[in-house]
Amino acid sequence: MAELGLMPQDRDLVEGVVAGRRRALAKTITLVESARADHQERAAAVLDALLPHTGRSLRIGLTGVPGAGKSTFIEAFGLHLIDQGLKVAVLAVDPSSSRSGGSILGDKTRMEQLCQREQAFIRPSPSSGTLGGVAEKTREALLVCEAAGFDVVIVETVGVGQSETVVAGMTDVFVLLQLPNSGDDLQAIKKGIMELADVVICNKADLDTTAAERAAMQMRSALGLLHPASAHWQPPVLQTSALHGQGIDAVWQTLLKYREALTASGELAEKRRRQSLDWMWQLIDSGLRHRFRDHPAVKTALPNTTQAVADGGMTPTVAAHRLLNLMNRYF
Ligand code: GDP
Repeated sequence: MAELGLMPQDRDLVEGVVAGRRRALAKTITLVESARADHQERAAAVLDALLPHTGRSLRIGLTGVPGAGKSTFIEAFGLHLIDQGLKVAVLAVDPSSSRSGGSILGDKTRMEQLCQREQAFIRPSPSSGTLGGVAEKTREALLVCEAAGFDVVIVETVGVGQSETVVAGMTDVFVLLQLPNSGDDLQAIKKGIMELADVVICNKADLDTTAAERAAMQMRSALGLLHPASAHWQPPVLQTSALHGQGIDAVWQTLLKYREALTASGELAEKRRRQSLDWMWQLIDSGLRHRFRDHPAVKTALPNTTQAVADGGMTPTVAAHRLLNLMNRYF
């Protein structure tokens, strides 16, 4: 049934993605990212056809403030995975790329070695739309990468703003990369990022081992105060030197243990189910909002009604009720 809506050239795309061909993969993600209505329709049919081939990757979310060492870490980690015979895809959610046109994560010189490897696929953040829109495209790109047979998909984001929550909501395990200076942990606690973390990595441990040890201890005690998201997993604090490739395998082993523990308890499957439903509801919410704003009767009534509410001539409750009812006229 899923393939009914597929156009002939899109059937080739689907076949290409499933066969792991990079060109098809890149073209499909471009189609998914396109804002054009006809592209959106095609993308939906392609994703539908790819869905049976998804679900087998480990989805890793990674965050950290600019300069924490994310790209250095991903490069070392990705190369390590490739050495194990695995394929790795790296996607990014960068809220700055849609806001200012500039991008924190888009720098072309990032992950130079990984970029050149056949077994790696790196895609910068979609650069248009709201954070919700960018996240939606990234989530779909993640599924496309899975269908293309990537064993690990890393979704990277910058530790500023709301994007961490969004990335944690589309991945199996969320990794927080911290700097070993005092204050970074406090920032993470303040912003609620620590609560999202399943694994905390204290990077740049080579710079000052005593400071790194102290920072790791502080983070452990900070994590100890939080209620763990799973009864079967206490978020550990690891130390790495991404620059020197130290501690990288320990991170990978920890992530494998995480997957094992949460698969055995059934939590991983439950998490993915919940994420899918959350995603569906987010799409419904934003779809309804668009339809509401685009509705001709609403468009006509909106200026006067908002003015009346602003002037105190109409209560917000009555206004909302009336405007929502206008939508019924055409249903
Ligand atoms: P990002 O902004 O989080 O992606 O950070 P980068 O990966 O670009 O790293 C920022 C700077 O920190 C670069 O100059 C890296 O070479 C350096 N760096 C990253 N990891 C380490 C590390 O483990 N030890 C040291 N000494 N420097 C590191």
